[in-house]
Amino acid sequence: MLHTNLGINDNGNLTFAGFDTVKLAKEYQTPLYVLDENRIREKCRTYINAMKKHFGEKSQPLYASKALSFKYIYRIMKEEGMSVDVVSGSEIYTAKEAGFPMENTYFHGNNKTDFEIAFAMDCGVGHFVADCREELDAISQIAGEKGITQKILMRLTPGIDTHTYEAVQTGQVDSKFGTAIETGQALELTKYALTLPNIELEGFHCHIGSQVFDGQTFCDSADIMLDYINTVRKETGFLATVLNLGGGYGVRYVESDPYLDIEESIAAVATHIKAKAEEFNVPMPTILMEPGRSIVADAGLTLYTVGSVKTITGYKSYVSIDGGMTDNPRYALYGSQYTSCIANRANEVADFECTIAGRCCESGDLIAENVKLAKPERGDILAVMVTGAYNYAMASNYNRVPRPAIVALNKEGSKVVLKRETYADVAMNDM
Ligand SMILES: *Cc1c(COP(=O)(O)O)cnc(C)c1O
Repeated sequence: MLHTNLGINDNGNLTFAGFDTVKLAKEYQTPLYVLDENRIREKCRTYINAMKKHFGEKSQPLYASKALSFKYIYRIMKEEGMSVDVVSGSEIYTAKEAGFPMENTYFHGNNKTDFEIAFAMDCGVGHFVADCREELDAISQIAGEKGITQKILMRLTPGIDTHTYEAVQTGQVDSKFGTAIETGQALELTKYALTLPNIELEGFHCHIGSQVFDGQTFCDSADIMLDYINTVRKETGFLATVLNLGGGYGVRYVESDPYLDIEESIAAVATHIKAKAEEFNVPMPTILMEPGRSIVADAGLTLYTVGSVKTITGYKSYVSIDGGMTDNPRYALYGSQYTSCIANRANEVADFECTIAGRCCESGDLIAENVKLAKPERGDILAVMVTGAYNYAMASNYNRVPRPAIVALNKEGSKVVLKRETYADVAMNDM
């Protein structure tokens, strides 16, 4: 199986975190997001322990909550002692409503509005990750009006291409995010930031992209960032005490994806960074990392009911499900690969080649193409694995389709932690 929380029981049904997925589908209806809560907690602990052990006590992971943002997740993060990234006023609101300690939040984004900046300060957001000059000015000015000093990091682009899909690369020089080191603009902006009142610059941030399987990518960006920290110290006397390496450890979506040992990789990255810091004679900064996907992805599974199985003679077969791009737009957006199976016949040979289609009025509404399933029939339960990240988070109401419920599985049992939208919910704001 793709991940250790997946299995097959004596009835031939797919299990997830020890629960029979077919029973879950019956009890809670489909489409349904299911969350393995223990898996999320394990991941948090793996990151926290590895980072403290290898980078030092003050270092810590920040859960990039855009991957899956709703109240229950922020409660888990609070209980596990995680800090979190937030990227909008609404994520800040959700975290606060969930009782998350706001001093442990980092506010990201390449275009924070004045309203959001003021709202974030009123909510007590701990750090801003400032993207550009306009934002530095706005943060400084609004903090001044409120009579506070806002702690910030500056987002820089180290000029590195990760070997991932173009739309999820963010660290290259011409990225829309941050300020480029290579062009000299980062240094100029850093000098400027140091002159601004009501902000306290602690250090620098970079995020090279997502689905990173090779720790070397973090080493490469750390080299550039440490070199930069050294340059800034020489040029201005300012010594950054925080280096945020961003997010992006990869997850296994399909069998051909590599395995990754997070702790092992963090250990290797730490060894590299310590040596580099010594070489530059820079005191080892507090290291932050921002895993999103890798904390929640394999803790998620989506269950659907099969509607039609349509074979176009001489061409292909479509298996249509009761969800699709509205609950998982990632194939339509990026061509992302997923592993799926017929959950109620999980031990049958998967030899029926098909394309899994959603229910939207859109030919591109697909979940997977040319995959093999046990011959599906109307009423079968289709499970799509590793959907914990960027599925609910990216869900929409296209075609006025209500968003599915999220059910959490833990040692006490299963429970709804996010309600299924009703038709009335979807029409709620219609005047
Ligand atoms: C999206 C994002 C992350 C998380 O990326 P994952 O691939 O989900 O781990 C981390 N940091 C920043 C700044 C991001 O934008």
